[in-house]
Formats: sequence, C-alpha cells, structure tokens
Amino acid sequence: MNNTNSLRWSILTALMLFLGTSITGLAQKPAAVSSTDKVQTIKKGKYTLVFECKAPLFSQEINQKLIDTYFKVYPALANQYNKKVTKLVTFVIDPDYDGVAGTSNDKVVFSAKYMTSHPNDIDVVTHETMHIVQAYGDENNMPGWLTEGIADYARYAYGVSNEKAGWSLPKFSAKQNYDNSYRITARFLAWLEYSGHKGIVKKLDQAGRDKTYDNGEIWKKLTGKTIDELWLAYSQNPTLPNVN
Ligand SMILES: [Zn+2]
Repeated sequence: MNNTNSLRWSILTALMLFLGTSITGLAQKPAAVSSTDKVQTIKKGKYTLVFECKAPLFSQEINQKLIDTYFKVYPALANQYNKKVTKLVTFVIDPDYDGVAGTSNDKVVFSAKYMTSHPNDIDVVTHETMHIVQAYGDENNMPGWLTEGIADYARYAYGVSNEKAGWSLPKFSAKQNYDNSYRITARFLAWLEYSGHKGIVKKLDQAGRDKTYDNGEIWKKLTGKTIDELWLAYSQNPTLPNVN
C-alpha cells in the first residue's frame, strides 16, 4: 500500500464511518419524533388534559376512552363538589406501574398492564379524578376510608361504564363496618343520601377541604346522630333502590 492508496483508504473509512453515523442517526430520529407525539394536549372549553402514553403498544381505543371519560366526568364532578379545582389535569399511561392507578395533585398514573387486561374498567378515571376534585391537601384530617369511600361514591353516582366493567356496590353484610373503605363505605354513603340525608356527601367532601372533619364530630352536626348510630340504622335496613 503506497501513500496514495493509504490516503484513499482513510477517506473511504472516514466516509463509511460518517455514513454509518448518519444511518444510525436517521434510524433513531423517527423514534424520538414519535415519543414527542405520545404527549397530547387536549382542550375542551375550560378543561385541558395532558395525555402521555409511555407504553408503546398500548391500545389507541383505550386511550380514547380514557380521554373521553375525563371530559365527560371531571367537569361534572368539579361542578358538583369543587368548582375551584384545577382545570388542567395530566394522565400518564405507565408500562412499569404496578397496581391499578394512582393520583397525586393533578396527575393520574394508570397502569398500562391493568388497563390492557381490564379495558372496560374506564371509571378508574372517575374514581381517580374525584381525588383531584377532593383536593384535601397533604395535611387533612379526613380518614383514608372516607376519602376512598367518597371517591367510590362518585364512581357509583357519575360512572359511565360501571355495569360493563362488572363494577357495583357490594351487598350489605353484617361483617362490614363503615370504615372498610372503598365500595363498602360508598354504599353506606349512598344509603345516607337516600335515607333522609341528601347532600351529605357534598358536605363531607367540603369538610375535607375546610379541614373541619373534627374526629367525626361532623356526623352529629350534619345528621344529629353519631356515625355508630347511623351505621346501626343502616345495618338494620340497608335497602337501596337499584342496588344489591
Ligand atoms: Zn382512591
């Protein structure tokens, strides 16, 4: 190999390296573009949803259902319970999230695995966005069972696909107690609304934001009875129309 050949060889190698880099660069570019595409900002009236799907193979149909449910349910919950709540919410579909979904401040993270295996359980949106509406803050004196009970009551009252998801309030049983949380507490709240205390959920929810739950004194203030007395009355006649 003389000097001229050696120089040609170097130029060729450099050219190949350059092309190689370019090809790699080109191959990576569409992926970067589509990951930006995965964040959508959707605005309808006063309400905005930032929607980020981090799971590459996640169903477009489920994405759309989650988006539609947000715009249907969240404004209704805000109107009923907390008109001042944020109008800007973020949904994230996370392929690494274990469990069902979780909410912190104005962001809901959905498990891609759970939603893929439970595509009709769309009212996870209703339960989780009710937590945003609740906005009780980090230091609140609402018991966790009541916070979750109110979120499931909201799902029962405002849900769009509960029946299709096989979700309903459970039958009353003597083994239950009001602080069993979630659907058991929700059924108790629904019964209170039906049995002469219409609007009590709205008042309890407001007490969460006002920090006036006062170790449960509020039950007596709102109904004239303690929570134990209310639960006793419920357990003696737990009938609720259109519910188990
Ligand atoms: Zn919850």
